[in-house]
Amino acid sequence: MAEFDLIVIGSGPGGYVAAIRASQLGLKTAIVERENLGGICLNWGCIPTKALLKSGEKYESLSHLKDYGLSADKVGFDFDAIIQRSRGVAATMNKGVTFLMKKHKIEVIEGTATLEKGPSGASGAPKTVIALKAGGSRTVEAKAVMLAVGARAKAIPQIGLEADGDRIWAYREAMAPKKMPASIVVIGSGAIGIEFGSFYRALGAEVTVVEAVDRIMPVEDEEVSKTAQRAFEKRGMKFRTGCKVTKVSRGGKGVQVAIEAGGKAETLEAEVCISAVGITANTDGIGLEALGVNMDRGHITIDGHCQTNVKGLYAIGDCAGAPWLAHKASHEGIHAAEYIAGFKTPNVNSPIAGCTYAQPQVASVGITEQGAREAKREVKIGRFPFRVNGKAVAAGEVEGFVKTIFDAKTGALIGAHMIGAEVTEMIQGYVTAIAMEATEEDIHGIVYPHPTMSEAMHEAALDAYQRVLHL
Ligand SMILES: Cc1cc2nc3c(=O)[nH]c(=O)nc-3n(C[C@H](O)[C@H](O)[C@H](O)COP(=O)(O)OP(=O)(O)OC[C@H]3O[C@@H](n4cnc5c(N)ncnc54)[C@H](O)[C@@H]3O)c2cc1C
Repeated sequence: MAEFDLIVIGSGPGGYVAAIRASQLGLKTAIVERENLGGICLNWGCIPTKALLKSGEKYESLSHLKDYGLSADKVGFDFDAIIQRSRGVAATMNKGVTFLMKKHKIEVIEGTATLEKGPSGASGAPKTVIALKAGGSRTVEAKAVMLAVGARAKAIPQIGLEADGDRIWAYREAMAPKKMPASIVVIGSGAIGIEFGSFYRALGAEVTVVEAVDRIMPVEDEEVSKTAQRAFEKRGMKFRTGCKVTKVSRGGKGVQVAIEAGGKAETLEAEVCISAVGITANTDGIGLEALGVNMDRGHITIDGHCQTNVKGLYAIGDCAGAPWLAHKASHEGIHAAEYIAGFKTPNVNSPIAGCTYAQPQVASVGITEQGAREAKREVKIGRFPFRVNGKAVAAGEVEGFVKTIFDAKTGALIGAHMIGAEVTEMIQGYVTAIAMEATEEDIHGIVYPHPTMSEAMHEAALDAYQRVLHL
Protein backbone atom coordinates (compact mmCIF):
# COMPACT_ATOMS: atom_id res chain seq x y z
CA MET A 1 0.00 0.00 0.00
CA ALA A 2 1.35 3.39 -0.95
CA GLU A 3 1.99 5.65 2.01
CA PHE A 4 0.79 8.77 0.17
CA ASP A 5 -1.52 9.57 -2.73
CA LEU A 6 0.93 12.19 -3.95
CA ILE A 7 4.51 13.09 -3.22
CA VAL A 8 5.69 16.43 -4.57
CA ILE A 9 9.45 16.97 -4.98
CA GLY A 10 10.38 20.63 -4.68
CA SER A 11 8.44 23.33 -2.81
CA GLY A 12 8.65 26.33 -5.15
CA PRO A 13 5.50 28.08 -6.42
CA GLY A 14 4.85 24.99 -8.55
CA GLY A 15 5.30 22.36 -5.86
CA TYR A 16 3.81 23.99 -2.77
CA VAL A 17 0.73 25.23 -4.64
CA ALA A 18 0.22 21.77 -6.18
CA ALA A 19 0.47 20.21 -2.71
CA ILE A 20 -2.16 22.60 -1.30
CA ARG A 21 -4.57 21.89 -4.16
CA ALA A 22 -4.02 18.13 -3.84
CA SER A 23 -4.69 18.30 -0.11
CA GLN A 24 -7.86 20.38 -0.70
CA LEU A 25 -9.03 17.57 -2.99
CA GLY A 26 -8.50 14.96 -0.27
CA LEU A 27 -5.20 13.49 -1.47
CA LYS A 28 -2.80 12.44 1.26
CA THR A 29 0.18 14.55 0.26
CA ALA A 30 3.84 14.93 1.19
CA ILE A 31 6.37 17.46 -0.09
CA VAL A 32 10.16 17.03 -0.17
CA GLU A 33 12.45 20.07 -0.04
CA ARG A 34 16.24 20.11 0.16
CA GLU A 35 16.65 23.81 0.89
CA ASN A 36 13.93 26.37 1.73
CA LEU A 37 10.15 26.05 1.53
CA GLY A 38 8.97 28.41 -1.20
CA GLY A 39 11.73 27.53 -3.67
CA ILE A 40 13.64 30.06 -5.74
CA CYS A 41 10.67 32.36 -6.22
CA LEU A 42 10.10 33.23 -2.56
CA ASN A 43 13.66 32.88 -1.30
CA TRP A 44 15.97 33.95 -4.16
CA GLY A 45 13.83 35.11 -7.05
CA CYS A 46 10.57 36.96 -7.63
CA ILE A 47 9.94 38.29 -4.14
CA PRO A 48 13.33 39.37 -2.73
CA THR A 49 14.20 41.08 -6.05
CA LYS A 50 10.99 43.09 -5.83
CA ALA A 51 11.99 44.15 -2.31
CA LEU A 52 15.35 45.38 -3.65
CA LEU A 53 13.72 47.11 -6.59
CA LYS A 54 11.26 48.89 -4.28
CA SER A 55 14.18 50.31 -2.27
CA GLY A 56 15.88 51.43 -5.50
CA GLU A 57 12.66 52.96 -6.82
CA LYS A 58 11.96 54.87 -3.61
CA TYR A 59 15.52 56.17 -3.49
CA GLU A 60 15.42 57.27 -7.11
CA SER A 61 12.09 59.04 -6.61
CA LEU A 62 13.71 61.15 -3.90
CA SER A 63 15.89 62.76 -6.54
CA HIS A 64 12.71 64.03 -8.25
CA LEU A 65 11.11 65.54 -5.14
CA LYS A 66 11.43 69.03 -6.65
CA ASP A 67 9.14 68.03 -9.52
CA TYR A 68 6.40 67.52 -6.91
CA GLY A 69 7.06 70.70 -4.97
CA LEU A 70 8.91 68.85 -2.20
CA SER A 71 12.36 68.94 -0.70
CA ALA A 72 14.39 66.85 1.75
CA ASP A 73 17.86 67.18 3.24
CA LYS A 74 20.48 64.48 3.41
CA VAL A 75 18.92 61.84 1.25
CA GLY A 76 20.95 58.63 1.37
CA PHE A 77 20.81 54.88 1.78
CA ASP A 78 22.17 52.10 3.93
CA PHE A 79 23.07 49.29 1.54
CA ASP A 80 23.20 46.60 4.25
CA ALA A 81 19.77 47.63 5.49
CA ILE A 82 18.38 47.36 1.95
CA ILE A 83 19.78 43.83 1.60
CA GLN A 84 18.58 42.86 5.08
CA ARG A 85 15.09 44.12 4.30
CA SER A 86 15.00 41.96 1.18
CA ARG A 87 16.24 38.89 3.11
CA GLY A 88 13.63 39.61 5.79
CA VAL A 89 10.89 39.70 3.18
CA ALA A 90 12.09 36.30 1.85
CA ALA A 91 12.10 34.88 5.40
CA THR A 92 8.52 36.11 5.97
CA MET A 93 7.35 34.42 2.77
CA ASN A 94 9.15 31.20 3.74
CA LYS A 95 7.35 31.21 7.10
CA GLY A 96 4.07 31.73 5.27
CA VAL A 97 4.60 28.55 3.23
CA THR A 98 5.54 26.63 6.40
CA PHE A 99 2.21 27.75 7.90
CA LEU A 100 0.29 26.76 4.75
CA MET A 101 1.82 23.26 4.72
CA LYS A 102 0.72 22.77 8.35
CA LYS A 103 -2.72 24.20 7.73
CA HIS A 104 -3.32 21.80 4.83
CA LYS A 105 -1.84 18.83 6.71
CA ILE A 106 0.88 18.30 4.13
CA GLU A 107 3.84 16.34 5.47
CA VAL A 108 7.07 18.25 4.83
CA ILE A 109 10.13 16.03 4.42
CA GLU A 110 13.44 17.88 4.57
CA GLY A 111 15.99 16.25 2.32
CA THR A 112 17.13 15.54 -1.22
CA ALA A 113 14.99 13.20 -3.28
CA THR A 114 16.00 10.75 -5.97
CA LEU A 115 13.75 8.35 -7.85
CA GLU A 116 13.88 4.59 -8.30
CA LYS A 117 11.75 2.26 -10.35
CA GLY A 118 8.47 1.63 -8.52
CA PRO A 119 6.52 -1.56 -7.95
CA SER A 120 4.63 -3.01 -10.87
CA GLY A 121 0.87 -2.98 -10.43
CA ALA A 122 -1.97 -0.53 -10.09
CA SER A 123 0.04 2.59 -9.35
CA GLY A 124 3.56 1.73 -10.46
CA ALA A 125 4.80 5.27 -9.82
CA PRO A 126 8.54 5.55 -9.11
CA LYS A 127 9.68 5.24 -5.49
CA THR A 128 11.12 8.35 -3.84
CA VAL A 129 14.33 7.86 -1.89
CA ILE A 130 15.12 10.81 0.34
CA ALA A 131 18.56 11.57 1.80
CA LEU A 132 17.22 13.29 4.94
CA LYS A 133 18.72 16.61 6.05
CA ALA A 134 18.72 15.29 9.60
CA GLY A 135 20.72 12.24 8.47
CA GLY A 136 19.73 8.82 7.22
CA SER A 137 17.30 8.11 4.44
CA ARG A 138 13.65 7.35 3.91
CA THR A 139 11.94 5.60 1.01
CA VAL A 140 8.42 6.75 0.26
CA GLU A 141 5.86 5.20 -2.02
CA ALA A 142 3.03 7.26 -3.44
CA LYS A 143 0.38 6.64 -6.08
CA ALA A 144 1.73 9.65 -7.99
CA VAL A 145 4.99 11.58 -7.92
CA MET A 146 5.25 15.19 -9.06
CA LEU A 147 8.62 16.67 -9.95
CA ALA A 148 8.71 20.41 -9.21
CA VAL A 149 12.48 20.65 -8.83
CA GLY A 150 12.91 23.99 -10.61
CA ALA A 151 16.14 25.35 -12.03
CA ARG A 152 19.37 27.14 -11.17
CA ALA A 153 21.43 29.86 -12.82
CA LYS A 154 23.13 28.71 -15.99
CA ALA A 155 26.93 28.73 -15.94
CA ILE A 156 29.19 28.75 -19.02
CA PRO A 157 32.52 27.51 -17.58
CA GLN A 158 34.11 27.35 -21.06
CA ILE A 159 34.26 31.18 -21.08
CA GLY A 160 34.76 31.59 -17.33
CA LEU A 161 31.14 32.59 -16.71
CA GLU A 162 30.61 30.81 -13.42
CA ALA A 163 29.61 32.48 -10.15
CA ASP A 164 32.57 32.63 -7.76
CA GLY A 165 30.80 34.44 -4.91
CA ASP A 166 33.31 37.26 -5.18
CA ARG A 167 33.60 39.06 -8.54
CA ILE A 168 31.35 36.94 -10.72
CA TRP A 169 27.78 36.79 -9.48
CA ALA A 170 24.67 34.89 -10.43
CA TYR A 171 21.32 35.86 -8.91
CA ARG A 172 22.01 34.54 -5.41
CA GLU A 173 25.22 36.54 -5.04
CA ALA A 174 23.63 39.61 -6.65
CA MET A 175 20.75 39.41 -4.16
CA ALA A 176 22.87 39.45 -1.00
CA PRO A 177 26.31 40.97 -1.64
CA LYS A 178 28.62 42.07 1.14
CA LYS A 179 29.05 45.57 -0.29
CA MET A 180 27.63 47.85 -2.92
CA PRO A 181 29.70 47.58 -6.12
CA ALA A 182 30.72 50.78 -7.92
CA SER A 183 30.55 49.25 -11.39
CA ILE A 184 28.86 46.20 -12.89
CA VAL A 185 28.74 44.43 -16.23
CA VAL A 186 25.47 42.52 -16.51
CA ILE A 187 25.53 39.71 -19.07
CA GLY A 188 22.05 39.12 -20.49
CA SER A 189 19.18 41.60 -20.89
CA GLY A 190 16.24 39.38 -20.03
CA ALA A 191 14.03 40.21 -17.04
CA ILE A 192 16.60 39.11 -14.42
CA GLY A 193 19.51 41.03 -15.97
CA ILE A 194 17.42 44.17 -16.44
CA GLU A 195 16.01 44.03 -12.91
CA PHE A 196 19.43 43.74 -11.25
CA GLY A 197 20.85 46.40 -13.60
CA SER A 198 17.95 48.70 -12.74
CA PHE A 199 18.32 48.18 -8.97
CA TYR A 200 22.07 48.80 -8.85
CA ARG A 201 21.83 51.76 -11.25
CA ALA A 202 19.14 53.35 -9.04
CA LEU A 203 21.66 53.25 -6.17
CA GLY A 204 24.34 54.85 -8.34
CA ALA A 205 26.45 51.97 -9.73
CA GLU A 206 27.86 52.26 -13.26
CA VAL A 207 25.94 49.57 -15.11
CA THR A 208 26.66 48.16 -18.58
CA VAL A 209 24.36 45.46 -19.93
CA VAL A 210 25.72 43.17 -22.64
CA GLU A 211 23.21 41.41 -24.90
CA ALA A 212 24.00 38.86 -27.63
CA VAL A 213 21.11 39.74 -29.94
CA ASP A 214 20.61 43.12 -31.56
CA ARG A 215 18.12 44.50 -29.04
CA ILE A 216 17.51 44.34 -25.31
CA MET A 217 14.71 42.27 -23.76
CA PRO A 218 14.56 40.11 -26.89
CA VAL A 219 11.34 38.29 -25.98
CA GLU A 220 9.42 41.58 -25.89
CA ASP A 221 7.84 43.42 -28.81
CA GLU A 222 10.48 45.39 -30.78
CA GLU A 223 8.85 48.75 -30.02
CA VAL A 224 8.92 47.97 -26.31
CA SER A 225 12.61 46.98 -26.50
CA LYS A 226 13.46 50.30 -28.16
CA THR A 227 11.50 52.41 -25.69
CA ALA A 228 12.89 50.44 -22.75
CA GLN A 229 16.48 50.96 -23.89
CA ARG A 230 15.92 54.71 -24.28
CA ALA A 231 14.29 54.93 -20.83
CA PHE A 232 17.06 52.93 -19.12
CA GLU A 233 19.75 54.98 -20.91
CA LYS A 234 18.09 58.15 -19.63
CA ARG A 235 18.71 56.74 -16.14
CA GLY A 236 22.38 56.18 -16.98
CA MET A 237 22.45 52.47 -17.86
CA LYS A 238 24.69 51.57 -20.82
CA PHE A 239 23.97 48.83 -23.35
CA ARG A 240 26.09 46.79 -25.71
CA THR A 241 23.77 44.85 -28.01
CA GLY A 242 24.77 42.33 -30.69
CA CYS A 243 27.81 41.43 -28.57
CA LYS A 244 29.15 37.98 -27.90
CA VAL A 245 30.95 37.46 -24.58
CA THR A 246 34.11 35.47 -25.33
CA LYS A 247 35.80 35.40 -21.92
CA VAL A 248 35.18 36.48 -18.35
CA SER A 249 38.30 36.75 -16.21
CA ARG A 250 39.15 38.02 -12.76
CA GLY A 251 42.13 40.23 -12.26
CA GLY A 252 43.32 43.46 -10.69
CA LYS A 253 40.50 45.13 -8.81
CA GLY A 254 37.68 43.45 -10.58
CA VAL A 255 36.56 41.51 -13.57
CA GLN A 256 37.23 41.74 -17.29
CA VAL A 257 34.54 40.81 -19.78
CA ALA A 258 35.87 40.25 -23.29
CA ILE A 259 33.27 40.91 -25.96
CA GLU A 260 33.17 40.68 -29.73
CA ALA A 261 30.86 42.67 -31.99
CA GLY A 262 31.01 42.89 -35.77
CA GLY A 263 34.46 41.25 -35.82
CA LYS A 264 35.87 43.78 -33.32
CA ALA A 265 37.11 42.65 -29.92
CA GLU A 266 36.94 44.77 -26.76
CA THR A 267 37.26 44.27 -23.02
CA LEU A 268 34.85 45.77 -20.50
CA GLU A 269 36.11 46.26 -16.95
CA ALA A 270 34.03 46.45 -13.80
CA GLU A 271 34.15 45.66 -10.11
CA VAL A 272 31.75 42.75 -10.58
CA CYS A 273 29.94 40.92 -13.31
CA ILE A 274 26.38 39.59 -12.98
CA SER A 275 25.59 36.55 -15.09
CA ALA A 276 21.96 36.51 -16.23
CA VAL A 277 22.22 34.23 -19.24
CA GLY A 278 19.39 31.85 -18.40
CA ILE A 279 18.76 28.77 -16.34
CA THR A 280 19.60 25.06 -16.17
CA ALA A 281 16.84 22.71 -14.98
CA ASN A 282 17.58 20.73 -11.79
CA THR A 283 16.92 17.48 -13.56
CA ASP A 284 20.38 15.94 -13.10
CA GLY A 285 21.16 13.48 -10.31
CA ILE A 286 17.53 12.45 -9.69
CA GLY A 287 17.67 9.16 -11.57
CA LEU A 288 15.56 10.24 -14.54
CA GLU A 289 17.84 8.58 -17.12
CA ALA A 290 17.54 5.17 -15.42
CA LEU A 291 13.75 5.51 -15.39
CA GLY A 292 13.79 6.38 -19.11
CA VAL A 293 12.10 9.77 -18.67
CA ASN A 294 11.88 11.65 -21.97
CA MET A 295 13.83 14.90 -21.89
CA ASP A 296 14.29 17.86 -24.21
CA ARG A 297 17.49 19.91 -23.79
CA GLY A 298 17.64 19.21 -20.05
CA HIS A 299 13.92 19.78 -19.42
CA ILE A 300 11.38 17.07 -18.70
CA THR A 301 8.94 16.43 -21.55
CA ILE A 302 5.30 16.52 -20.45
CA ASP A 303 1.90 16.16 -22.10
CA GLY A 304 -1.15 18.42 -21.77
CA HIS A 305 -1.76 17.14 -18.22
CA CYS A 306 1.88 17.49 -17.06
CA GLN A 307 2.42 13.70 -17.30
CA THR A 308 5.82 12.37 -18.25
CA ASN A 309 6.15 9.19 -20.31
CA VAL A 310 6.68 7.22 -17.04
CA LYS A 311 3.55 5.92 -15.32
CA GLY A 312 2.53 7.99 -12.30
CA LEU A 313 5.29 10.56 -12.79
CA TYR A 314 4.36 14.21 -13.40
CA ALA A 315 6.53 17.31 -13.90
CA ILE A 316 5.65 20.98 -13.57
CA GLY A 317 7.22 24.45 -13.51
CA ASP A 318 10.76 25.43 -14.48
CA CYS A 319 11.99 21.82 -14.75
CA ALA A 320 9.34 21.15 -17.41
CA GLY A 321 10.24 23.97 -19.80
CA ALA A 322 9.52 27.59 -20.69
CA PRO A 323 8.23 30.09 -19.83
CA TRP A 324 10.28 30.04 -16.63
CA LEU A 325 7.81 31.94 -14.51
CA ALA A 326 6.31 31.37 -11.08
CA HIS A 327 2.68 31.75 -12.15
CA LYS A 328 3.19 29.22 -14.97
CA ALA A 329 4.61 26.78 -12.38
CA SER A 330 1.62 27.28 -10.04
CA HIS A 331 -0.87 26.96 -12.89
CA GLU A 332 0.65 23.65 -14.00
CA GLY A 333 0.79 22.46 -10.37
CA ILE A 334 -2.92 23.08 -9.84
CA HIS A 335 -3.79 21.46 -13.15
CA ALA A 336 -1.71 18.35 -12.43
CA ALA A 337 -3.10 18.00 -8.87
CA GLU A 338 -6.67 18.19 -10.19
CA TYR A 339 -5.90 15.69 -12.94
CA ILE A 340 -4.39 13.26 -10.40
CA ALA A 341 -7.50 13.70 -8.25
CA GLY A 342 -9.60 12.58 -11.21
CA PHE A 343 -10.79 15.85 -12.75
CA LYS A 344 -11.46 15.50 -16.47
CA THR A 345 -9.85 18.80 -17.37
CA PRO A 346 -8.93 20.00 -20.86
CA ASN A 347 -5.20 20.31 -21.55
CA VAL A 348 -3.29 22.90 -19.56
CA ASN A 349 -3.32 25.97 -21.78
CA SER A 350 -3.63 29.54 -20.60
CA PRO A 351 -2.14 32.87 -21.64
CA ILE A 352 0.92 33.57 -19.47
CA ALA A 353 2.03 37.17 -19.02
CA GLY A 354 5.68 38.15 -18.61
CA CYS A 355 6.63 41.08 -16.38
CA THR A 356 9.85 43.00 -15.72
CA TYR A 357 9.83 45.21 -12.63
CA ALA A 358 12.41 47.77 -13.70
CA GLN A 359 11.76 51.49 -14.03
CA PRO A 360 9.77 51.76 -16.23
CA GLN A 361 8.06 48.41 -15.90
CA VAL A 362 7.44 46.13 -18.88
CA ALA A 363 4.56 43.67 -19.21
CA SER A 364 3.24 41.61 -22.09
CA VAL A 365 1.02 38.72 -23.05
CA GLY A 366 0.41 36.89 -26.30
CA ILE A 367 1.88 37.46 -29.72
CA THR A 368 4.29 40.29 -30.66
CA GLU A 369 3.99 42.30 -33.87
CA GLN A 370 7.05 40.51 -35.28
CA GLY A 371 5.59 37.14 -34.22
CA ALA A 372 2.36 37.95 -36.06
CA ARG A 373 4.34 38.97 -39.14
CA GLU A 374 6.40 35.77 -39.08
CA ALA A 375 3.22 33.69 -38.65
CA LYS A 376 1.73 35.68 -41.57
CA ARG A 377 -1.29 36.61 -39.46
CA GLU A 378 -3.34 39.58 -40.55
CA VAL A 379 -3.57 41.89 -37.56
CA LYS A 380 -4.87 45.26 -36.43
CA ILE A 381 -2.58 47.18 -34.12
CA GLY A 382 -3.39 49.97 -31.71
CA ARG A 383 -1.14 52.18 -29.57
CA PHE A 384 -1.66 54.72 -26.85
CA PRO A 385 1.06 56.73 -25.08
CA PHE A 386 0.88 57.50 -21.34
CA ARG A 387 1.92 61.12 -22.03
CA VAL A 388 -1.72 61.95 -22.85
CA ASN A 389 -3.27 59.91 -20.03
CA GLY A 390 -4.56 62.21 -17.29
CA LYS A 391 -3.57 59.99 -14.34
CA ALA A 392 -0.06 59.47 -15.74
CA VAL A 393 0.37 63.22 -16.23
CA ALA A 394 -0.89 63.93 -12.69
CA ALA A 395 1.47 61.30 -11.26
CA GLY A 396 4.43 62.52 -13.33
CA GLU A 397 4.72 59.04 -14.86
CA VAL A 398 4.35 59.76 -18.56
CA GLU A 399 6.96 57.37 -19.97
CA GLY A 400 5.78 54.48 -22.12
CA PHE A 401 2.76 53.24 -24.00
CA VAL A 402 0.25 50.43 -24.46
CA LYS A 403 0.09 48.41 -27.67
CA THR A 404 -2.66 45.97 -28.63
CA ILE A 405 -2.71 43.36 -31.37
CA PHE A 406 -6.02 41.99 -32.70
CA ASP A 407 -6.65 39.24 -35.20
CA ALA A 408 -7.98 41.14 -38.24
CA LYS A 409 -10.38 38.34 -39.22
CA THR A 410 -11.97 37.44 -35.89
CA GLY A 411 -11.37 40.61 -33.89
CA ALA A 412 -9.88 38.53 -31.04
CA LEU A 413 -7.25 40.18 -28.88
CA ILE A 414 -4.11 38.10 -29.41
CA GLY A 415 -1.32 40.23 -27.96
CA ALA A 416 -0.75 43.17 -25.62
CA HIS A 417 2.50 44.96 -24.78
CA MET A 418 3.01 47.69 -22.22
CA ILE A 419 5.81 49.78 -20.86
CA GLY A 420 5.33 52.34 -18.09
CA ALA A 421 4.67 52.76 -14.38
CA GLU A 422 2.50 50.01 -12.85
CA VAL A 423 1.95 48.10 -16.11
CA THR A 424 2.79 44.84 -14.30
CA GLU A 425 -0.44 45.37 -12.33
CA MET A 426 -2.43 46.35 -15.41
CA ILE A 427 -1.49 43.47 -17.74
CA GLN A 428 -3.89 41.10 -15.97
CA GLY A 429 -6.78 42.97 -17.63
CA TYR A 430 -5.54 41.84 -21.02
CA VAL A 431 -4.68 38.33 -19.74
CA THR A 432 -8.32 37.97 -18.67
CA ALA A 433 -9.50 39.31 -22.02
CA ILE A 434 -7.35 36.86 -24.00
CA ALA A 435 -8.31 33.92 -21.74
CA MET A 436 -11.99 34.75 -22.28
CA GLU A 437 -11.42 35.16 -26.02
CA ALA A 438 -12.55 38.78 -25.93
CA THR A 439 -12.86 40.67 -29.20
CA GLU A 440 -12.38 44.37 -29.94
CA GLU A 441 -16.14 44.85 -29.53
CA ASP A 442 -16.02 43.43 -25.99
CA ILE A 443 -13.10 45.64 -24.98
CA HIS A 444 -14.49 48.78 -26.63
CA GLY A 445 -17.71 48.30 -24.66
CA ILE A 446 -15.99 48.11 -21.26
CA VAL A 447 -16.06 51.19 -19.01
CA TYR A 448 -12.64 51.97 -17.51
CA PRO A 449 -12.54 54.01 -14.29
CA HIS A 450 -11.25 57.57 -14.54
CA PRO A 451 -8.63 58.72 -13.90
CA THR A 452 -6.54 55.55 -14.19
CA MET A 453 -3.58 54.54 -16.25
CA SER A 454 -5.71 51.58 -17.37
CA GLU A 455 -7.72 53.98 -19.54
CA ALA A 456 -4.72 53.74 -21.89
CA MET A 457 -5.62 50.05 -22.29
CA HIS A 458 -9.06 51.04 -23.58
CA GLU A 459 -7.62 53.70 -25.87
CA ALA A 460 -5.04 51.29 -27.35
CA ALA A 461 -7.87 48.90 -28.21
CA LEU A 462 -9.89 51.76 -29.72
CA ASP A 463 -6.84 52.91 -31.69
CA ALA A 464 -6.53 49.53 -33.43
CA TYR A 465 -9.94 50.29 -35.00
CA GLN A 466 -9.37 54.03 -35.67
CA ARG A 467 -11.63 55.01 -32.77
CA VAL A 468 -9.04 56.45 -30.39
CA LEU A 469 -10.46 59.41 -28.44
CA HIS A 470 -7.62 61.32 -26.80
CA LEU A 471 -5.04 61.44 -29.61
C1 LIG B 1 16.32 36.65 -9.64
C2 LIG B 1 15.05 36.03 -10.13
C3 LIG B 1 13.90 36.79 -10.26
C4 LIG B 1 12.72 36.22 -10.70
N1 LIG B 1 11.60 37.00 -10.82
C5 LIG B 1 10.46 36.45 -11.25
C6 LIG B 1 9.27 37.22 -11.32
O1 LIG B 1 9.26 38.40 -11.01
N2 LIG B 1 8.15 36.61 -11.73
C7 LIG B 1 8.11 35.29 -12.09
O2 LIG B 1 7.06 34.78 -12.45
N3 LIG B 1 9.22 34.53 -12.04
C8 LIG B 1 10.39 35.08 -11.62
N4 LIG B 1 11.50 34.30 -11.53
C9 LIG B 1 11.41 32.89 -11.94
C10 LIG B 1 10.77 32.06 -10.82
O3 LIG B 1 11.53 32.18 -9.65
C11 LIG B 1 10.67 30.61 -11.25
O4 LIG B 1 10.00 30.52 -12.49
C12 LIG B 1 9.92 29.79 -10.22
O5 LIG B 1 10.55 29.83 -8.98
C13 LIG B 1 9.78 28.34 -10.68
O6 LIG B 1 9.08 27.63 -9.74
P1 LIG B 1 9.26 26.05 -9.57
O7 LIG B 1 8.26 25.65 -8.54
O8 LIG B 1 9.23 25.39 -10.87
O9 LIG B 1 10.75 25.85 -9.01
P2 LIG B 1 11.64 26.55 -7.89
O10 LIG B 1 11.04 27.78 -7.36
O11 LIG B 1 12.99 26.63 -8.49
O12 LIG B 1 11.63 25.48 -6.72
C14 LIG B 1 12.22 24.22 -6.87
C15 LIG B 1 12.55 23.67 -5.50
O13 LIG B 1 12.90 22.31 -5.64
C16 LIG B 1 13.95 22.01 -4.71
N5 LIG B 1 14.63 20.83 -5.20
C17 LIG B 1 15.32 20.68 -6.36
N6 LIG B 1 15.76 19.42 -6.50
C18 LIG B 1 15.37 18.75 -5.39
C19 LIG B 1 15.53 17.42 -4.94
N7 LIG B 1 16.15 16.51 -5.69
N8 LIG B 1 15.00 17.08 -3.74
C20 LIG B 1 14.34 18.00 -2.98
N9 LIG B 1 14.16 19.27 -3.36
C21 LIG B 1 14.66 19.64 -4.55
C22 LIG B 1 14.79 23.28 -4.73
O14 LIG B 1 15.56 23.38 -3.55
C23 LIG B 1 13.73 24.37 -4.84
O15 LIG B 1 13.37 24.84 -3.57
C24 LIG B 1 12.68 34.85 -11.06
C25 LIG B 1 13.83 34.06 -10.92
C26 LIG B 1 14.99 34.64 -10.46
C27 LIG B 1 16.21 33.78 -10.31
